[in-house]
Amino acid sequence: SAFAALGLAPELVAAVADLGFTQPTAVQARVMPLAIKAEGAERYADLMVSSQTGSGKTAAFLLPVLHTLIQQQAARETAERAERERLAVEAALRGEVPPKAPKRKNPLLPRHFKAATPGALVLCPTRELAQQVAHDAIDLVRHCRGLRIASVVGGMPYQLQIAKLQNADLVVATPGRLLDLQRSMQLKLDQVQFLVVDEADRMLDLGFSDDLAEINALTAQRRQTMMFSATFAPRIQQLAMRVMHDNGKHVQ
Ligand code: AMP
Repeated sequence: SAFAALGLAPELVAAVADLGFTQPTAVQARVMPLAIKAEGAERYADLMVSSQTGSGKTAAFLLPVLHTLIQQQAARETAERAERERLAVEAALRGEVPPKAPKRKNPLLPRHFKAATPGALVLCPTRELAQQVAHDAIDLVRHCRGLRIASVVGGMPYQLQIAKLQNADLVVATPGRLLDLQRSMQLKLDQVQFLVVDEADRMLDLGFSDDLAEINALTAQRRQTMMFSATFAPRIQQLAMRVMHDNGKHVQ
């Protein structure tokens, strides 16, 4: 398919086929080749994308982010398997039984407590949009083994969100609740290598400018940022300058 031709992971090609997407929409065709990390590329491209609701913008950012998470998961599993095999061979050569899985690092922490450390974060201005984006992401990972999506939005019970957040790879959030969970140490953002700001213009209209700056400072320095907005008025450009390394390549 046209999605396979873009080099998209087979799990995602299968998911878009299930959803009945045959051709990338215009915004997907423009964003995906830029956002999917080229083999051996030094750094991910930061992007500012003009896009309207209904253009297929959600899949335009979710597909490249999920694609890279899948690749990283596969690389991690290969490395872990190789390491287990190496240890087993060494143990066998010494005539020992293979070593067990390592113990927990800090035995003083209660067993259930572990701050979530997602690799990707999508910020949305409203609860409704965040839930829609999370729903779309869940549709797209239906053929992926072990990629977890969580949504973090105001007005939902904390306990349920915290439980779902454990081991989440991609978190879709509204800024306020995200910072609440970060401050109460349920969530750490320093592993976030993909930051998407969806509907950046509405984000500013709703007064999230300071929250965005705070979240920006908490995420990894070396990361990819994609900003989607209906307009790129000067105030959006200013936000882009604060959150992007190279002011973002502008994709019309
Ligand atoms: P969005 O602009 O992200 O809100 O997407 C609008 C609608 O387009 C959603 O219902 C998507 O499921 C659908 N959609 C996204 N990408 C495609 C595609 N490549 N082909 C057909 N429909 C799509």
